[in-house]
Amino acid sequence: MHKGTGWLAAVVALVTAMAAPATALAAQDMYRLYNPNSGEHFYTANVAERDSLRRVGWRYEQVGWVAPDHSATPVYRLYKPNAGDHHYTMNSNEKDMLVNAGWRFEGIGWYSDDAHSVTMFRQYNPNARSGSHNYTTNGSERDWLVSLGWRDEGLAWYALGPGRADPNADKPAPSNPGTDGGSSSQGGGSTVTNVVYYTPNGGCYHKTASCRTLRRSKTILPASLTDAQQMGLKPCKECWH
Ligand SMILES: [Zn+2]
Repeated sequence: MHKGTGWLAAVVALVTAMAAPATALAAQDMYRLYNPNSGEHFYTANVAERDSLRRVGWRYEQVGWVAPDHSATPVYRLYKPNAGDHHYTMNSNEKDMLVNAGWRFEGIGWYSDDAHSVTMFRQYNPNARSGSHNYTTNGSERDWLVSLGWRDEGLAWYALGPGRADPNADKPAPSNPGTDGGSSSQGGGSTVTNVVYYTPNGGCYHKTASCRTLRRSKTILPASLTDAQQMGLKPCKECWH
């Protein structure tokens, strides 16, 4: 016979525990780093990791946001082999979809704030070979990127506190529209490269992901033309003219 009331008591206890005021969340600054070679951003709460990346050429830009040290909503970290690109999402369906598309699940990157204090916005650069997403609490930075052709993908996750400049950063945040004084410094390499498409087991790179020879391909990955050539891939006879 089932011990109905015992089971119910357990559920009540659980619900009570979940509803109880959480212990104060510890806040951690999430450092935002930029790799000028790949265009990728990386985020870490670990000062030692931040500074070790700086020593090998990454630039520490700013505090990206302030994250709770725990919550009920993990933000998953995924990695795309060959492209050297990370992606972050609190959507477990998106995580599973990307894993099916060949991305590697690397665990929990950080946590989203369950009180939804500050919104992190997500933008997508369809032309970047890596670092194709940008995440920011700064609406002006989002709008600036969208004006450059990035796609506004809305909510990424929630922060405890907004990003902010850090006097110890390596250079000012790239965001502030208008602070360039019209010099329009394109500096460094452009982030927009010639994108081609390939499949993990194929020998060709394609002009478009909708090339008819890719119709049955489950995993189609973008790469720069240079990278595709360095991987030993050849131009597709069907779509490359
Ligand atoms: Zn093709």
